[in-house]
Amino acid sequence: MPKPLLLGCIADDFTGATDLANNLVRAGMRVVQTIGVPNAPLSAEVDAVVVALKSRTIAPQDAVDQSLQALQWLQGQGAEQIYFKYCSTFDSTAQGNIGPVTEALMQALQTDFTIATPAFPDNGRTVFKGYLFVGDVLLNESGMQHHPLTPMVDANLVRVMQAQCKSKVGLLSHKTIAQGATAIQEDIANLKQQGVRIAIVDAVSNDDLMRLGPALKGMPLLTAGSGVAIGLPQNFGLTPTPQASVLPKASGLQAVVSGSCSQATNRQVAHFKATGRPAFLIDPLNLKGSWQDLVKEVLAWAQGHLASGPVLVYSTATPESVQAVQSQLGVEAAGHQVEQALAAIARGLVELGVQQMVVAGGETSGACVQALAIEQLQIGPQIDPGVPWCHAHTPMGSVHITLKSGNFGTDDFFTKAFSFLSPHP
Ligand code: ADP
Repeated sequence: MPKPLLLGCIADDFTGATDLANNLVRAGMRVVQTIGVPNAPLSAEVDAVVVALKSRTIAPQDAVDQSLQALQWLQGQGAEQIYFKYCSTFDSTAQGNIGPVTEALMQALQTDFTIATPAFPDNGRTVFKGYLFVGDVLLNESGMQHHPLTPMVDANLVRVMQAQCKSKVGLLSHKTIAQGATAIQEDIANLKQQGVRIAIVDAVSNDDLMRLGPALKGMPLLTAGSGVAIGLPQNFGLTPTPQASVLPKASGLQAVVSGSCSQATNRQVAHFKATGRPAFLIDPLNLKGSWQDLVKEVLAWAQGHLASGPVLVYSTATPESVQAVQSQLGVEAAGHQVEQALAAIARGLVELGVQQMVVAGGETSGACVQALAIEQLQIGPQIDPGVPWCHAHTPMGSVHITLKSGNFGTDDFFTKAFSFLSPHP
């Protein structure tokens, strides 16, 4: 029977879950990320689990139900503290889901106080006097005011959170945070006396988050972006150590599957091709008929190259050519067909013996993880900020896999990633 969990986390989307897991590993925790709520108890001994949901923009009641299921599973693993993770731009609608999920978790945990802060200074997200800044501008001037699903038109998080909650929302101001844990705890006691149940927390630097950490010791529920995580492992006597990110030794063949069309990924594809390694371009217009034939063709091609090093299979294209494809196939159909084909290719590559795989693209990663029937990812060393190597079991055997969302990673990511796994070839 593994030891009880120190920290049980519920994330409202997939890449956000990885971001949190990555921060926890870097601060000294051994972490597993699960895809949805697991059906079985944990098999590995870890310090924290991040349950990745897709609950950011679904109906509030569904988000509440799924989050409570995740909570129940985490409690079953003995989790000492619960962390509800959302986006660092506080992505939500007037109805939620951050507020309703927070209140439902508070009720289930029978707690009368929690914090809420998306602050993540390393990524330019800072909160001051309750206002969220994205880089140098307020949230509602950052472009997020135009988000198709969760337009953020108010940067004042006390107001935003209050609109989503029945509980009284207050502010733990920077003046208090700057004074450290004792002052923070005193202010929390004051806020509670005023009837505040949820406090937005100011934080403009990692130092603020490190001062906040000790004040959160023993608080049953925390709600935050991934930033708060950097100050938590110390509460459990853990300090940063490379041991936290140790994965089983890597072996097997190497491949990159890329469906992201972001600027960074376009540069990464160009860089990989410039090294002279083999690359196969998937043209979405060839997928209209029997895409299974194309998958077979790609796999036959890959079989001829894999023995000599990593291969790249990509649909990555410039914005102009993506637009041309979308106007012929439709935006959704184009996306879906490419995801299906790349996911089938990822599975086929693993069947061919690939055990080290880079996947580029958030949606593409979701499709590949599903096709590989991956339920859990053990989080390993960081390749670039926000992108760690992971280890996972599939029905075809275990793999090392990294899931790179669009704009992450340096230009040489597709080649350098493998060197992190095989330092002693
Ligand atoms: P990112 O993380 O960069 O947003 P995603 O994988 O989340 O990447 O999204 C990219 C989307 O674009 C996916 O739905 C993918 O299937 C689709 N796509 C990939 N290549 C093309 C292409 N050449 N033309 C049109 N759509 C594409």
